[in-house]
Amino acid sequence: MLRTLAIPRAATAAAAAAAVAVRAAPAWQLVRAYSSAGKEYDTVVIGAGPGGYVAAIKAAQLGQKTACIEKRETLGGTCLNVGCIPSKALLHNSHLFHEAKHGFAQRGIDVGEVRLNLGQLLADKDKAVSGLTRGIEMLFKKNKVDWIKGAGTLKSANEIEVALNAGGTEAVRAKNIIIATGSEPAPFPGFEVDEKQIITSTGALALERVPEKMIVIGGGVIGLELGSVWSRLGAEVTVVEYLPSIGAGLDAEIAKAFQRSLSKQGIKFKTSTKVVGSEKRGGKVVVNVEAAKGGKPEALEADVVLLSVGRRPYTEGLGLENVGLKVDARGRVEMADAEFRTTVPSIRVIGDATVGPMLAHKAEEEGIAAVEHIVHGHGHVNYGVIPGVIYTHPEVACVGKTEQQLKEEGIKYKVGSFPFAANSRAKTIDDAEGLVKIITDAETDRILGAHIIGPNAGEMIAEACLAMEYGGSAEDVARTCHAHPTMSEAFKEACMAAYGKPIHF
Ligand SMILES: Cc1cc2nc3c(=O)[nH]c(=O)nc-3n(C[C@H](O)[C@H](O)[C@H](O)COP(=O)(O)OP(=O)(O)OC[C@H]3O[C@@H](n4cnc5c(N)ncnc54)[C@H](O)[C@@H]3O)c2cc1C
Repeated sequence: MLRTLAIPRAATAAAAAAAVAVRAAPAWQLVRAYSSAGKEYDTVVIGAGPGGYVAAIKAAQLGQKTACIEKRETLGGTCLNVGCIPSKALLHNSHLFHEAKHGFAQRGIDVGEVRLNLGQLLADKDKAVSGLTRGIEMLFKKNKVDWIKGAGTLKSANEIEVALNAGGTEAVRAKNIIIATGSEPAPFPGFEVDEKQIITSTGALALERVPEKMIVIGGGVIGLELGSVWSRLGAEVTVVEYLPSIGAGLDAEIAKAFQRSLSKQGIKFKTSTKVVGSEKRGGKVVVNVEAAKGGKPEALEADVVLLSVGRRPYTEGLGLENVGLKVDARGRVEMADAEFRTTVPSIRVIGDATVGPMLAHKAEEEGIAAVEHIVHGHGHVNYGVIPGVIYTHPEVACVGKTEQQLKEEGIKYKVGSFPFAANSRAKTIDDAEGLVKIITDAETDRILGAHIIGPNAGEMIAEACLAMEYGGSAEDVARTCHAHPTMSEAFKEACMAAYGKPIHF
């Protein structure tokens, strides 16, 4: 028999009537019988980031009575509130500022003195965030997804208790529960975050003034993007990276070109360098570093230190222990099968909270597939074709295997490259730094990986994804007519180079 839940007074009569039906009904109908009381759902998602909100909308579209529990006052999770969206808003506007200051004159555009209005720049970013988060709220209404505002704690395989933001608690039952609680910045020993001087990515989205000197600890995607923003706005930025190269697993050739490009823009790099401690001195932060393999210590001084050493799954207060769910050594909720089930079959997990790359589009794909598994019994995510983009200028984008991975796997491959310096559109608009690199199977010509550094790389990578999803060859792409003059012609020519010769290089 189902446990009695906190049912609003007005609904008690209906619930009592339903309860009569309940006693004679099979188990799956029991849930339906209670749903008239408004506390029972087919699917409840915990967390409204890109994984959770997409899962909730998809579930509702497929006829599930759905609720999404989110404790933030706005929907969209890390991505919309303190991640992808605000960072891209700042990257775009800081790029315009930098161009206006350093690039317009040579293009024949005199704008006089270019000054930064940081308050307005941040306000513009906030406008983008609020517009998009409200958009999700509208989509919830349109698709009849109930947003339960509060923090959800698992109580059993089918029950969640919500500590409501408005006060009090609410019990919710669901046939299916999807954990989509996302991630948070990983801490770094010896640094206490105050989001003013020692900051995470969240603080880096809202600094009230441009620091004179900024140290970025960690040369991965987030550190390089936000380091770029503040460098363009005038900060002297030094990136300290433990590994010999930046960009967290990029193809080595692309990583090299990328570091060269960012160095030209004024960002300083200390690779193969480890941070050993910090202290605050005279209003500054002193970061003590030494060579990763050990060596002479050095003290770097900064006004602001950005910690960007990765993110860790967020499961605080989720009550995993109440239902016997475990996390792995990296804090990721363990998945028991390829259908996103945890070891409790009614509870699934998606997005940053579990294994795989911490990317918004990966979370979205999983959200849809998890719901399709629930409703149809089948769903699909192709983990071999998940693109990664770094939205600096030039942008960096990649999908599939790197040369290093293929070497390790002993797979014979060919490489076709094409520089933007030989692409007419890139030359025309004087934005011709970078290259497209296509990696194909040496025998079949099938595309195994694509790595791009250059203008619009983030958009162009979709062409590689589509080709790879369809098992396309370099020749398939090269024989597809591409509009002229476009940057995507560089992609076509790199494919030509992979199986034959390009025309323009
Ligand atoms: C600065 C920055 C830039 C980024 N840029 C990009 C990018 O350009 N492209 C990209 O693909 N990815 C980017 N990411 C990563 C991306 O934001 C994440 O991969 C993505 O948001 C993960 O989605 P998710 O749905 O798994 O979780 P999240 O977006 O983290 O959402 C989880 C939500 O769950 C809520 N929650 C947690 N616990 C509970 C609970 N118990 N009850 C109720 N609610 C709860 C949280 O409040 C949160 O809103 C960026 C991240 C950062 C920090």
